[in-house]
This record gives sequence, structure tokens and C-alpha cells, in this order.
Amino acid sequence: MTDESLRLLQKVLKSNGYSLTQPRRVVCSLLWDTEPLSMRELTERSKDLIDRASLYRTVGLFEKLGLVQRIYIGWKYKIELSDVLTHHHHHISCLHCGKIVAITEEKEIESTIASLAQRHGFVAANHQLEVRGYCADCSAKLA
Ligand SMILES: [Zn+2]
Ligand SMILES: [Zn+2]
Repeated sequence: MTDESLRLLQKVLKSNGYSLTQPRRVVCSLLWDTEPLSMRELTERSKDLIDRASLYRTVGLFEKLGLVQRIYIGWKYKIELSDVLTHHHHHISCLHCGKIVAITEEKEIESTIASLAQRHGFVAANHQLEVRGYCADCSAKLA
């Protein structure tokens, strides 16, 4: 991950009374620049670096601080870094195989949402938008 994001992580932690410990650094770098990961995948990737208890504690803290978010596919979920540390984006996820595609730089969506909020007298601060469906492979198989 970039120095800038690392500094940002440290800043958010510090302003909430936490320091940048090894597990926190590890979890953040594992989630950096990757597709969203399930807790099982995170456990697998972090097992040589931090123990399972620290992993769960750290993810819990990050969720509380808004540094990571859950993306639900059905009742299962995956974890990714939130907009605080990465660029704002949306997802399209497959209900069948769980594949997730990140949608970035769709300016039209952003301005539509902003004007939608405005029409209701709101200034939009943030939003989440998830599209769920079936990927090309799965639609072919399920047809
Ligand atoms: Zn699929
Ligand atoms: Zn957006």
C-alpha cells in the first residue's frame, strides 16, 4: 500500500486513540489493492503474519472506525477497505459464484446521485450502491 494511505490509516487510528500496531498494518495491507476478501480468505492470507484472534479483533476495530466495510452477497459477506483509504467505487456481484467487479470512475452515477439528493433538499455526504445479479459465466450455466 502507499505511504499516503499508511499515513491516513495512522491518522484515523490516532484520532480515535489507537496506534498503528503490526496486526493493523498487516490487515490493511492484505486488503489493499485486491478484490474484497471473505474472512476465510483473510484468515488464510494472514495466518503466517498474525494470529486469528488478532485478525478478528482488528477487522472488528476497522469496521467500528469505518475503515473497512462488508459487501453482502446473499447472507455471506466479504470485507474491503472503505472509501476512507481507497477511491470511491461501486460493485456488481454475482449471486451464484460470488464474483465481485469494482466499478470505478462512473461520473454519471455520481452526479445522478448528487442531484437526486439535492432534489430532496439534501447535500449527499456518501452513499453505497451495489448491483447484484449473475455474471456472464453463471448466466450461461443457469440458462
Ligand atoms: Zn457467477
Ligand atoms: Zn458512488
